[in-house]
Amino acid sequence: MASVENSRVCDTNGCDKEAKMQCPTCIKLGIEGSFFCSQECFKEFWGEHKKVHKKAKKQGAGEPANYNPWPGYIFTGSLRPYAVSPKRPVPDHIRRPDYANHPEGFPLTEQKQKGSTYIRPLDDQEQEDLRVACKLGREVLDEAVKAVGVGVTTEEIDRIAHEACVDRDCYPSPLNYYTFPKSCCTSVNEVICHGIPDGRPLQDGDICNIDVTTYFRGFHGDLNETLFVGNVSEASKKLVKVTYECLDNAIKMVHPGVRYRDIGNEIQKHAQSNGFSVVRSYCGHGINQLFHTAPNVPHYAKNKAVGVMKPGHTFTIEPMINEGVWRDKTWPDNWTSVTEDGKRSAQFEQTLLVTESGCDILTKRLDGQPHFMDSL
Ligand SMILES: [Zn+2]
Ligand SMILES: [Zn+2]
Repeated sequence: MASVENSRVCDTNGCDKEAKMQCPTCIKLGIEGSFFCSQECFKEFWGEHKKVHKKAKKQGAGEPANYNPWPGYIFTGSLRPYAVSPKRPVPDHIRRPDYANHPEGFPLTEQKQKGSTYIRPLDDQEQEDLRVACKLGREVLDEAVKAVGVGVTTEEIDRIAHEACVDRDCYPSPLNYYTFPKSCCTSVNEVICHGIPDGRPLQDGDICNIDVTTYFRGFHGDLNETLFVGNVSEASKKLVKVTYECLDNAIKMVHPGVRYRDIGNEIQKHAQSNGFSVVRSYCGHGINQLFHTAPNVPHYAKNKAVGVMKPGHTFTIEPMINEGVWRDKTWPDNWTSVTEDGKRSAQFEQTLLVTESGCDILTKRLDGQPHFMDSL
Protein backbone atom coordinates (compact mmCIF):
# COMPACT_ATOMS: atom_id res chain seq x y z
CA MET A 1 0.00 0.00 0.00
CA ALA A 2 1.12 3.50 -0.72
CA SER A 3 1.77 5.89 2.09
CA VAL A 4 -0.46 8.98 1.98
CA GLU A 5 2.03 11.10 3.87
CA ASN A 6 4.15 13.53 1.81
CA SER A 7 2.11 13.05 -1.32
CA ARG A 8 -0.52 15.76 -0.98
CA VAL A 9 -1.87 17.17 -4.21
CA CYS A 10 -3.19 20.69 -4.82
CA ASP A 11 -6.93 21.02 -4.04
CA THR A 12 -7.60 23.20 -7.09
CA ASN A 13 -9.78 21.40 -9.64
CA GLY A 14 -7.65 20.13 -12.49
CA CYS A 15 -4.28 20.80 -10.79
CA ASP A 16 -2.34 17.74 -9.68
CA LYS A 17 0.89 19.41 -8.64
CA GLU A 18 2.40 18.62 -5.26
CA ALA A 19 0.86 20.79 -2.48
CA LYS A 20 3.29 23.16 -0.72
CA MET A 21 0.99 25.33 1.39
CA GLN A 22 -2.17 25.11 3.47
CA CYS A 23 -5.00 27.67 3.71
CA PRO A 24 -4.33 29.78 6.85
CA THR A 25 -8.04 30.27 7.60
CA CYS A 26 -8.56 26.50 7.52
CA ILE A 27 -5.69 26.03 9.97
CA LYS A 28 -7.32 28.57 12.31
CA LEU A 29 -10.73 26.90 12.04
CA GLY A 30 -9.33 23.42 12.50
CA ILE A 31 -10.42 22.26 9.03
CA GLU A 32 -8.35 19.35 7.78
CA GLY A 33 -6.90 19.33 4.25
CA SER A 34 -7.09 22.54 2.13
CA PHE A 35 -3.66 22.16 0.55
CA PHE A 36 -2.49 24.14 -2.48
CA CYS A 37 0.55 24.07 -4.75
CA SER A 38 0.98 27.86 -4.96
CA GLN A 39 -0.52 31.27 -4.12
CA GLU A 40 -1.69 31.48 -7.75
CA CYS A 41 -3.74 28.30 -7.51
CA PHE A 42 -5.05 29.29 -4.04
CA LYS A 43 -6.25 32.69 -5.40
CA GLU A 44 -7.78 31.12 -8.48
CA PHE A 45 -9.75 28.57 -6.40
CA TRP A 46 -10.68 31.08 -3.64
CA GLY A 47 -14.28 31.70 -4.80
CA GLU A 48 -15.03 27.99 -4.40
CA HIS A 49 -12.77 27.32 -1.43
CA LYS A 50 -14.12 30.03 0.90
CA LYS A 51 -17.45 28.16 1.11
CA VAL A 52 -15.65 25.63 3.29
CA HIS A 53 -14.98 28.37 5.87
CA LYS A 54 -18.59 29.51 5.88
CA LYS A 55 -19.79 25.98 6.45
CA ALA A 56 -17.30 25.39 9.26
CA LYS A 57 -18.24 28.65 11.00
CA LYS A 58 -21.89 27.67 10.83
CA GLN A 59 -21.07 24.37 12.51
CA GLY A 60 -19.09 26.07 15.29
CA ALA A 61 -15.68 27.49 14.63
CA GLY A 62 -12.74 25.84 16.26
CA GLU A 63 -14.45 22.58 17.14
CA PRO A 64 -12.47 19.43 16.58
CA ALA A 65 -13.48 18.74 12.97
CA ASN A 66 -13.71 15.01 13.53
CA TYR A 67 -15.77 15.09 16.74
CA ASN A 68 -19.48 14.70 16.12
CA PRO A 69 -21.04 12.28 18.59
CA TRP A 70 -24.56 12.60 17.14
CA PRO A 71 -24.49 12.61 13.33
CA GLY A 72 -27.70 14.02 11.92
CA TYR A 73 -28.75 15.82 15.12
CA ILE A 74 -29.94 19.34 14.34
CA PHE A 75 -28.59 21.82 16.87
CA THR A 76 -30.69 24.85 17.80
CA GLY A 77 -27.71 27.23 18.06
CA SER A 78 -24.01 27.39 17.30
CA LEU A 79 -22.68 25.63 20.44
CA ARG A 80 -21.31 22.11 19.90
CA PRO A 81 -20.32 19.31 22.27
CA TYR A 82 -16.66 18.46 22.82
CA ALA A 83 -15.20 15.31 24.28
CA VAL A 84 -15.88 14.75 28.00
CA SER A 85 -13.02 13.45 30.16
CA PRO A 86 -13.57 10.58 32.64
CA LYS A 87 -15.26 11.09 36.03
CA ARG A 88 -12.95 12.42 38.73
CA PRO A 89 -12.47 10.25 41.82
CA VAL A 90 -13.55 11.39 45.31
CA PRO A 91 -11.34 10.15 48.18
CA ASP A 92 -12.90 7.43 50.34
CA HIS A 93 -12.86 9.47 53.55
CA ILE A 94 -15.40 11.96 52.12
CA ARG A 95 -19.02 11.22 53.04
CA ARG A 96 -21.15 10.67 49.94
CA PRO A 97 -24.87 10.72 49.12
CA ASP A 98 -26.66 7.43 48.34
CA TYR A 99 -26.55 7.90 44.55
CA ALA A 100 -22.76 8.34 44.45
CA ASN A 101 -22.15 4.60 44.19
CA HIS A 102 -25.44 3.54 42.55
CA PRO A 103 -24.86 2.08 39.05
CA GLU A 104 -27.66 4.23 37.59
CA GLY A 105 -27.04 7.12 39.95
CA PHE A 106 -30.50 6.78 41.51
CA PRO A 107 -31.01 8.94 44.62
CA LEU A 108 -33.06 6.25 46.40
CA THR A 109 -33.98 8.30 49.49
CA GLU A 110 -35.12 11.14 47.23
CA GLN A 111 -37.15 8.80 45.05
CA LYS A 112 -39.02 7.45 48.12
CA GLN A 113 -40.36 10.99 48.80
CA LYS A 114 -41.32 11.60 45.18
CA GLY A 115 -44.85 12.86 44.73
CA SER A 116 -45.10 14.14 48.30
CA THR A 117 -45.72 17.88 48.61
CA TYR A 118 -44.98 17.96 52.35
CA ILE A 119 -42.32 20.58 53.13
CA ARG A 120 -40.39 19.57 56.24
CA PRO A 121 -39.02 22.50 58.25
CA LEU A 122 -35.47 21.92 59.51
CA ASP A 123 -34.78 22.00 63.26
CA ASP A 124 -32.04 24.26 64.65
CA GLN A 125 -29.27 21.70 64.37
CA GLU A 126 -30.24 20.83 60.78
CA GLN A 127 -30.32 24.52 59.88
CA GLU A 128 -26.78 24.93 61.22
CA ASP A 129 -25.59 21.92 59.22
CA LEU A 130 -27.19 23.25 56.04
CA ARG A 131 -25.60 26.64 56.65
CA VAL A 132 -22.15 25.04 56.67
CA ALA A 133 -22.78 23.06 53.46
CA CYS A 134 -23.99 26.28 51.77
CA LYS A 135 -21.02 28.34 52.94
CA LEU A 136 -18.67 25.71 51.55
CA GLY A 137 -20.68 25.69 48.31
CA ARG A 138 -20.13 29.45 48.01
CA GLU A 139 -16.39 29.03 48.54
CA VAL A 140 -16.24 26.35 45.83
CA LEU A 141 -18.20 28.49 43.35
CA ASP A 142 -15.93 31.47 44.04
CA GLU A 143 -12.87 29.32 43.26
CA ALA A 144 -14.43 28.16 39.99
CA VAL A 145 -15.43 31.71 39.04
CA LYS A 146 -11.83 32.90 39.41
CA ALA A 147 -10.79 30.42 36.72
CA VAL A 148 -13.18 31.74 34.03
CA GLY A 149 -11.51 33.38 31.04
CA VAL A 150 -11.04 33.27 27.26
CA GLY A 151 -9.45 29.97 26.23
CA VAL A 152 -10.20 28.15 29.50
CA THR A 153 -12.11 24.90 28.93
CA THR A 154 -15.21 24.15 30.99
CA GLU A 155 -13.51 20.87 31.91
CA GLU A 156 -10.76 22.91 33.60
CA ILE A 157 -13.41 24.85 35.54
CA ASP A 158 -14.87 21.50 36.60
CA ARG A 159 -11.44 20.29 37.76
CA ILE A 160 -11.03 23.38 39.93
CA ALA A 161 -14.55 23.02 41.39
CA HIS A 162 -13.94 19.33 42.05
CA GLU A 163 -10.66 19.94 43.83
CA ALA A 164 -12.11 22.83 45.83
CA CYS A 165 -14.83 20.40 47.03
CA VAL A 166 -12.36 17.70 47.96
CA ASP A 167 -10.13 20.23 49.77
CA ARG A 168 -13.12 21.06 51.98
CA ASP A 169 -14.14 17.41 52.57
CA CYS A 170 -17.23 17.93 50.42
CA TYR A 171 -18.69 15.56 47.85
CA PRO A 172 -19.59 17.43 44.61
CA SER A 173 -23.34 16.67 44.53
CA PRO A 174 -23.84 16.59 40.73
CA LEU A 175 -21.26 13.79 40.31
CA ASN A 176 -23.11 10.57 39.37
CA TYR A 177 -26.53 12.06 40.19
CA TYR A 178 -28.58 10.02 37.68
CA THR A 179 -25.06 9.30 36.30
CA PHE A 180 -24.22 12.96 35.56
CA PRO A 181 -20.55 12.62 34.59
CA LYS A 182 -19.00 15.77 36.12
CA SER A 183 -18.72 17.64 39.42
CA CYS A 184 -20.51 20.86 38.41
CA CYS A 185 -22.67 22.10 35.52
CA THR A 186 -21.32 24.63 33.03
CA SER A 187 -23.97 26.16 30.77
CA VAL A 188 -22.67 28.31 27.93
CA ASN A 189 -24.69 30.78 25.78
CA GLU A 190 -27.85 28.96 24.58
CA VAL A 191 -27.52 26.28 27.24
CA ILE A 192 -30.27 26.81 29.81
CA CYS A 193 -28.89 24.45 32.46
CA HIS A 194 -27.19 21.08 33.07
CA GLY A 195 -24.38 21.69 30.57
CA ILE A 196 -21.66 19.05 30.92
CA PRO A 197 -18.12 20.44 31.36
CA ASP A 198 -16.09 19.39 28.31
CA GLY A 199 -13.07 20.25 26.19
CA ARG A 200 -14.52 23.43 24.65
CA PRO A 201 -12.41 26.52 25.36
CA LEU A 202 -14.51 29.52 26.40
CA GLN A 203 -14.59 32.18 23.69
CA ASP A 204 -14.48 35.96 23.90
CA GLY A 205 -18.09 37.16 24.26
CA ASP A 206 -19.49 33.93 25.76
CA ILE A 207 -21.66 33.90 28.84
CA CYS A 208 -21.14 30.88 31.11
CA ASN A 209 -23.16 29.72 34.09
CA ILE A 210 -21.42 27.63 36.74
CA ASP A 211 -23.71 25.61 39.01
CA VAL A 212 -22.12 24.13 42.12
CA THR A 213 -23.65 21.93 44.81
CA THR A 214 -21.63 20.66 47.77
CA TYR A 215 -22.58 17.77 50.08
CA PHE A 216 -21.16 18.11 53.60
CA ARG A 217 -22.10 16.24 56.80
CA GLY A 218 -25.26 14.99 55.11
CA PHE A 219 -26.54 18.29 53.64
CA HIS A 220 -26.52 19.80 50.14
CA GLY A 221 -25.83 23.50 49.43
CA ASP A 222 -26.73 24.67 45.91
CA LEU A 223 -25.94 27.91 44.03
CA ASN A 224 -25.04 29.22 40.60
CA GLU A 225 -23.97 32.35 38.77
CA THR A 226 -23.63 33.45 35.15
CA LEU A 227 -20.27 34.98 34.21
CA PHE A 228 -19.00 37.12 31.34
CA VAL A 229 -16.12 35.77 29.24
CA GLY A 230 -14.01 38.60 27.81
CA ASN A 231 -15.97 41.31 25.99
CA VAL A 232 -19.69 40.52 26.10
CA SER A 233 -22.29 42.33 23.95
CA GLU A 234 -24.62 44.87 25.57
CA ALA A 235 -27.55 42.59 24.73
CA SER A 236 -26.02 39.71 26.70
CA LYS A 237 -25.13 41.99 29.60
CA LYS A 238 -28.72 43.10 29.78
CA LEU A 239 -29.96 39.48 29.78
CA VAL A 240 -27.62 38.53 32.63
CA LYS A 241 -28.39 41.66 34.64
CA VAL A 242 -32.17 41.23 34.32
CA THR A 243 -31.82 37.57 35.35
CA TYR A 244 -29.85 38.63 38.43
CA GLU A 245 -32.59 41.14 39.28
CA CYS A 246 -35.28 38.45 38.80
CA LEU A 247 -33.65 36.35 41.52
CA ASP A 248 -33.07 39.39 43.72
CA ASN A 249 -36.70 40.49 43.48
CA ALA A 250 -37.92 36.96 44.17
CA ILE A 251 -35.73 36.63 47.28
CA LYS A 252 -37.19 39.88 48.64
CA MET A 253 -40.63 38.22 48.56
CA VAL A 254 -39.61 35.31 50.78
CA HIS A 255 -41.46 35.57 54.15
CA PRO A 256 -43.56 33.22 56.26
CA GLY A 257 -47.08 33.03 54.83
CA VAL A 258 -46.14 33.68 51.19
CA ARG A 259 -47.33 31.06 48.68
CA TYR A 260 -44.59 29.35 46.67
CA ARG A 261 -46.71 29.79 43.55
CA ASP A 262 -46.46 33.59 43.79
CA ILE A 263 -42.67 33.68 43.27
CA GLY A 264 -43.08 33.00 39.55
CA ASN A 265 -45.47 35.92 39.04
CA GLU A 266 -42.81 38.37 40.20
CA ILE A 267 -40.03 36.76 38.14
CA GLN A 268 -42.05 36.63 34.92
CA LYS A 269 -43.24 40.22 35.33
CA HIS A 270 -39.66 41.50 35.50
CA ALA A 271 -38.39 39.24 32.70
CA GLN A 272 -41.27 40.03 30.37
CA SER A 273 -41.11 43.79 30.92
CA ASN A 274 -37.53 43.59 29.62
CA GLY A 275 -38.50 41.54 26.57
CA PHE A 276 -37.32 38.18 27.91
CA SER A 277 -39.04 34.86 28.60
CA VAL A 278 -39.00 32.40 31.53
CA VAL A 279 -38.03 28.72 31.24
CA ARG A 280 -40.82 26.41 32.41
CA SER A 281 -39.22 22.94 32.36
CA TYR A 282 -36.81 23.51 35.29
CA CYS A 283 -37.70 24.83 38.72
CA GLY A 284 -36.30 25.77 42.10
CA HIS A 285 -36.51 23.00 44.69
CA GLY A 286 -36.49 22.10 48.34
CA ILE A 287 -33.01 21.17 49.54
CA ASN A 288 -31.70 19.63 52.76
CA GLN A 289 -30.42 16.07 53.29
CA LEU A 290 -31.94 15.56 49.82
CA PHE A 291 -30.58 17.32 46.73
CA HIS A 292 -34.04 17.89 45.23
CA THR A 293 -37.25 17.65 47.25
CA ALA A 294 -40.50 19.55 48.03
CA PRO A 295 -41.34 22.36 47.50
CA ASN A 296 -41.31 22.71 43.72
CA VAL A 297 -40.68 26.39 42.92
CA PRO A 298 -41.63 27.32 39.33
CA HIS A 299 -40.26 30.61 38.01
CA TYR A 300 -43.13 31.34 35.59
CA ALA A 301 -46.40 33.14 36.27
CA LYS A 302 -49.77 31.52 37.07
CA ASN A 303 -48.20 28.22 38.13
CA LYS A 304 -49.94 25.73 40.41
CA ALA A 305 -47.12 25.09 42.92
CA VAL A 306 -48.25 23.76 46.30
CA GLY A 307 -47.27 25.15 49.70
CA VAL A 308 -46.91 28.21 51.90
CA MET A 309 -43.56 29.40 53.32
CA LYS A 310 -42.91 28.64 56.99
CA PRO A 311 -39.87 29.30 59.20
CA GLY A 312 -37.36 26.46 58.77
CA HIS A 313 -38.22 25.78 55.11
CA THR A 314 -35.15 25.52 52.88
CA PHE A 315 -35.26 25.77 49.10
CA THR A 316 -33.62 27.30 46.04
CA ILE A 317 -34.82 29.95 43.62
CA GLU A 318 -32.95 29.71 40.29
CA PRO A 319 -34.67 31.52 37.44
CA MET A 320 -33.55 30.68 33.89
CA ILE A 321 -34.32 33.64 31.61
CA ASN A 322 -34.18 33.50 27.80
CA GLU A 323 -33.51 36.17 25.19
CA GLY A 324 -35.97 34.53 22.81
CA VAL A 325 -38.62 31.84 23.28
CA TRP A 326 -39.10 30.06 26.65
CA ARG A 327 -39.15 26.59 25.11
CA ASP A 328 -36.24 24.21 25.70
CA LYS A 329 -34.79 21.16 23.98
CA THR A 330 -32.40 18.55 25.32
CA TRP A 331 -29.26 17.35 23.53
CA PRO A 332 -28.91 13.59 22.91
CA ASP A 333 -26.61 13.43 25.97
CA ASN A 334 -29.93 13.64 27.90
CA TRP A 335 -28.58 16.48 30.05
CA THR A 336 -27.72 19.63 28.12
CA SER A 337 -30.86 21.78 27.99
CA VAL A 338 -30.78 24.44 25.27
CA THR A 339 -33.16 27.13 24.04
CA GLU A 340 -35.37 26.03 21.18
CA ASP A 341 -34.38 29.05 19.07
CA GLY A 342 -30.65 28.93 19.91
CA LYS A 343 -30.72 32.35 21.58
CA ARG A 344 -29.00 32.89 24.91
CA SER A 345 -30.18 32.00 28.39
CA ALA A 346 -28.91 33.14 31.81
CA GLN A 347 -29.43 31.95 35.39
CA PHE A 348 -28.66 32.75 39.02
CA GLU A 349 -29.39 30.57 42.05
CA GLN A 350 -29.26 30.81 45.84
CA THR A 351 -30.24 28.42 48.64
CA LEU A 352 -32.60 30.11 51.12
CA LEU A 353 -33.83 29.53 54.67
CA VAL A 354 -37.20 31.00 55.67
CA THR A 355 -36.88 32.84 59.02
CA GLU A 356 -39.48 34.47 61.29
CA SER A 357 -38.91 37.84 59.63
CA GLY A 358 -37.99 36.94 56.02
CA CYS A 359 -35.15 34.76 54.82
CA ASP A 360 -31.43 34.09 55.10
CA ILE A 361 -29.50 33.62 51.87
CA LEU A 362 -27.37 30.66 52.95
CA THR A 363 -25.20 30.74 49.81
CA LYS A 364 -24.73 34.53 49.79
CA ARG A 365 -21.42 36.19 48.95
CA LEU A 366 -18.93 36.02 51.79
CA ASP A 367 -17.88 39.17 53.68
CA GLY A 368 -21.13 40.81 52.57
CA GLN A 369 -19.66 42.10 49.32
CA PRO A 370 -22.22 43.13 46.72
CA HIS A 371 -22.27 41.22 43.47
CA PHE A 372 -20.49 42.87 40.53
CA MET A 373 -23.88 42.80 38.79
CA ASP A 374 -25.16 45.46 41.24
CA SER A 375 -22.85 48.03 39.63
CA LEU A 376 -23.88 47.38 36.02
ZN1 LIG B 1 -30.74 23.82 42.24
ZN1 LIG C 1 -27.68 24.51 41.33
